Amino acid sequence: MESSECSFEEPPSSINQLSAFSFQLSALKKYNSTKAVPKELWNDWRWQLKNRITTLQQLEEIIILTPEEKKGVLASGGRLAMAITPYFASLIDPYNPNCPVRRQAVPRIEESYILPHDMVDPCGEDTHSPVPGLVHRYPDRALLIVTDQCAMYCRYCTRRRMVGAEENVISRDRLEDVYSYLRTNRKIRDVLISGGDPLLLKEEILEGILSNLRRIPNIEIIRLGTRVPVTLPQRIDTSLADMLKKYHPLWMSIHFSHPKEITKDVKRACGLLSDAGIPLGSQTVLLRGINDKPHIMKKLIHELLKMRVRPYYIYQCDPAVGTGHFRTPVSAGINIIEKLRGHTTGYGVPTFVVDAPGGGGKIPVAPVYLISQADGRVTLRNYEGKIFEYYESPKQIRRIDGIKQFRLFDS
Ligand code: SF4
Repeated sequence: MESSECSFEEPPSSINQLSAFSFQLSALKKYNSTKAVPKELWNDWRWQLKNRITTLQQLEEIIILTPEEKKGVLASGGRLAMAITPYFASLIDPYNPNCPVRRQAVPRIEESYILPHDMVDPCGEDTHSPVPGLVHRYPDRALLIVTDQCAMYCRYCTRRRMVGAEENVISRDRLEDVYSYLRTNRKIRDVLISGGDPLLLKEEILEGILSNLRRIPNIEIIRLGTRVPVTLPQRIDTSLADMLKKYHPLWMSIHFSHPKEITKDVKRACGLLSDAGIPLGSQTVLLRGINDKPHIMKKLIHELLKMRVRPYYIYQCDPAVGTGHFRTPVSAGINIIEKLRGHTTGYGVPTFVVDAPGGGGKIPVAPVYLISQADGRVTLRNYEGKIFEYYESPKQIRRIDGIKQFRLFDS
């Protein structure tokens, strides 16, 4: 990332006079933060960003930290420094270090451990970047990274090598290079705008990017990858939704991790986006001790469906440096799919994928339902473990006795 442009607007000066952490008492009192901060400020996304929790002292005012967390906070800094919106912090259980929201937001000392096979850039994005800011790994799609800023830094982030360092927005010059590359590579028909989080851009900057992409004839669809509806739902307002819907077909992938994240604010945000005609999909990273149990994932999926968000992907946690304590065996993901397929709404069953380390792309991994396949006979297993046989159509159909009778032949 480069550029000195700030990715969000300064809040009104009166906001600066308020105590950034005046929500602490209510956060401890069952997390009803709006009691301590005037509602209009609490609902102001710029206030939320301005008042993110970024220091040990601030965090200790609202959470009783474990020694591992204290060391983790002190060790974090620079890239993927700690930053938690007051809203997301209000969902944290201050007494339980295993709270799923807390585990995602509060650094632990384990982040400084490097395990064998850990990688700085596990998805090989840097080696597939033809121009700065753009990743071109699949023939017809490209990833445009527009900022390194997020509302909250997930401790398992696969882009931790670049996220949160400067909190800057891609420069105009770099964007021009990106547009030029996209115009000349006519096979690219789908651009995913991500970061960092593109929904933290000023509305006019984001609209400028969307309108420029829309002017490129080969770009058929645009997608936005974001976690803002979850960590900063106040950002989703009618102004943003009205702007976005001008650039259809526009899709959105929202990063959810746990049912505890589904609040009334998140429901309002997703409703606004859906009503703007934006198809919403969820992406979830499989995280040890957070969402690696089938009943937790099923609860999340049911909540997503109620919000018109289609569960899209579950990702095996990438082997990014410092994320070993979050990783599960691949079998945990397969087991989750096994417990979903056939047991709940088909729309609610995401695809479980492993992003092949080094840039091999997403590889779907699923339970084995195809037992055998030979001589036109396929043996299958259903979700209850029952075995069924299916006979494939023969290769030729021969007409006999005029036009009304048919007999099927294998050869
Ligand atoms: S929102 Fe995405 S890019 Fe940002 S820290 Fe979380 S995982 Fe990383």
